[in-house]
Amino acid sequence: MGTFVLNDMESSAENVQHDSGFAWRNGVLHAEGVSLPAIAAAYGTPAYVYSAGTVRERFRRLSDAFADVPHHIHFAVKANSNLSVLTLLRELGAGVDIVSGGELQRALTAGFSGDDVVFSGVGKTVGEIEAALEAGVRLINVESEAELLVIEAVAARRQVVAPIAVRVNPEVTVETPHAYIKTGEKGQKFGIPRDDVSRLLDVISDLPHVELRGLGMHLGSQIGNADPLRDALPRLLAAIEVARASGHPVQFMDVGGGLSVPYEPGDVAADIADYATVVRAAARETGLTLLLEPGRYLVAESGVLLTEVLYRKHAAGKDFVVTDAGMSDLIRPALYQAYHGIAAVREVQGAITADVVGPICESGDFFAKNRVLPDVSAGDLLVLQTAGAYAFTMASNYNSRPRPVEVLVDGDRFAVVGARETFDDLVRRERTPLEWRTA
Ligand SMILES: *Cc1c(COP(=O)(O)O)cnc(C)c1O
Repeated sequence: MGTFVLNDMESSAENVQHDSGFAWRNGVLHAEGVSLPAIAAAYGTPAYVYSAGTVRERFRRLSDAFADVPHHIHFAVKANSNLSVLTLLRELGAGVDIVSGGELQRALTAGFSGDDVVFSGVGKTVGEIEAALEAGVRLINVESEAELLVIEAVAARRQVVAPIAVRVNPEVTVETPHAYIKTGEKGQKFGIPRDDVSRLLDVISDLPHVELRGLGMHLGSQIGNADPLRDALPRLLAAIEVARASGHPVQFMDVGGGLSVPYEPGDVAADIADYATVVRAAARETGLTLLLEPGRYLVAESGVLLTEVLYRKHAAGKDFVVTDAGMSDLIRPALYQAYHGIAAVREVQGAITADVVGPICESGDFFAKNRVLPDVSAGDLLVLQTAGAYAFTMASNYNSRPRPVEVLVDGDRFAVVGARETFDDLVRRERTPLEWRTA
């Protein structure tokens, strides 16, 4: 391996993120115009660093692809719910797709109006439905008849008509890299099975406090082209046809999210042109306003998790690189066996094959196994790439670890958009001494 230099634009890890807003300058990795060592010096590690320019670029790429059909892009808040990221997307013209009352509050706090909000999810509570109606959301996506009846009851009590959409499960097979990110197949908990849609539409017709404004679907995540939609869209269009024929005032066709991003060397970027061609054609056929719910696509490549090497360790014939970030900060490798590119922030000569592991007491706490890496030493900085989506939002306090600082870079400026948690944050909800009560 000798002089193998990983910080070389030809190396695979960086090709994965070639247009991510992160690039080496004079041997130092920068986020746009800001060097990552400067961010580590200012705020410590581990740190999430997001590139505003990358989010803008992805949003424009997607909205340009749909420019000639009426459409709204509703960012899936669960991918990255930081208020500053939400504000950035709102300023670009995005709406949001939310899956909880907490996400609704985040969206409203970030300045979105009710009409910018689509509310998805299989288990909405009465309180969440009340909050959604109070906020005047654009659509509540219905995922079961039982939920429909609760929405009707809540709307009746408030003497309003709830705008709803039916989430159809088109029951198509989707190739995703992990079974946990499939949602549009037969036997999943999501959506109304396509054969049951007609019956549900009849139920809706009889309910005075709900109005069917849309039909939608969400096939899962990491969809790289239009292929799964080629199968699923005709099924959605058929359901839309049935709904219109029975007089429902349908305005929206929601194709969900799921556009892929490249994580591993050899992964290809989503074919947005192919995807848009197929979806636009379907939208035109219906004449409806198209709703898109991308999460990962808009933010994944905009983020890295910046971490310091704590130790090198050699045990049982293996090399380990121990980082100060762990699975509490980024759980995707442990949860989905996900791949994240790992690169050294400063140029390092030589390469090793090692496991990159966190400090947490779990054997699942690793970022990579048998990965070819630069020959880093304690004190060197690494980045885990493609960490802008489902990364901080899934962070936990396991092992009583404060969640990392989040930093937004825009051009040559950077700002903390989420402070590192403190010990006080960790124990704030806990009580001692106890205030015992009896029932
Ligand atoms: C999670 C989710 C999305 C976003 O999925 P991505 O793969 O991040 O694009 C969109 N719609 C719904 C209903 C979701 O649950």
